[in-house]
Amino acid sequence: MQRYFLPPEQFHAATQTVTIEGDDAHHLGRVMRAEVGDKVICSNGVDREVLVRISHLDKGAVTAEIVEELAMDAEASVDVWIAQSLPKGDKMELIIQKGTEIGAARFLPFLSERTIVQYDAKKEAKRTERWQKIAKEAAEQAHRNRVPQIESVYSWKQLLQRAKEADVAWICYEKEDGQQLKPAIQSAIAAGQIEPGKQVLIAVGPEGGFTEQEIKQAEEAGFRSVSLGNRILRTETAAMVGLTCLFYETGEMGG
Ligand code: SAM
Repeated sequence: MQRYFLPPEQFHAATQTVTIEGDDAHHLGRVMRAEVGDKVICSNGVDREVLVRISHLDKGAVTAEIVEELAMDAEASVDVWIAQSLPKGDKMELIIQKGTEIGAARFLPFLSERTIVQYDAKKEAKRTERWQKIAKEAAEQAHRNRVPQIESVYSWKQLLQRAKEADVAWICYEKEDGQQLKPAIQSAIAAGQIEPGKQVLIAVGPEGGFTEQEIKQAEEAGFRSVSLGNRILRTETAAMVGLTCLFYETGEMGG
């Protein structure tokens, strides 16, 4: 069933209806060729998800009556923030799409010493808007209750600061020969640092990786350096592995 994330102001308590507007109205009317009486799911992306029945369609907006409040049970119990050093090309779009499908709560793009892509602040707003749209579409496709937040690009120092707000912060480092991811997850769970409602930040370097200096700075700032195994993963693969392993260990896939 089609699903749309709507801003809270498009939920109308007095009439127990919602209005679907803009691109979503176009998609519903023109692409899906919806008719009066058809049902779709609408979410405010925070704490409310409803089944609605279309009552009126016109070019720019669709009105639908709320017929049922739905359970919000599609989100992971732990909030995972993927901190990704800006990769080349459109890899960030892939990371956002796949990370959203798997269940990431936030994406924190950042710049590090070996970030190759030229960062242009003027293009930031447009790019973040495009990334946020990708997150919304991936969240709709994945039947999530929430759309992950795409934050603005951080400098390295700003990321180290931001990470202090997470309950656990890991930096993925292929040269880490001590701490493997699985025991790191298990000891954090045992210590109560990972449990429902907690935030876990997973940082991944660019194509050229992190410098030793950056790893040292990250550890001084409270990160733990973790290995994702003996193979070198592409920058766009690493966060997916970390995210999936964490969810496996926290029971998102059962057990
Ligand atoms: N230094 C790597 C090399 O020799 O090709 C390049 C970095 S790798 C392509 C990109 C990022 O993915 C790294 O900065 C790291 O964050 C993460 N990564 C890749 N493989 C990893 C592994 N086995 N363990 C931990 N992190 C890994």
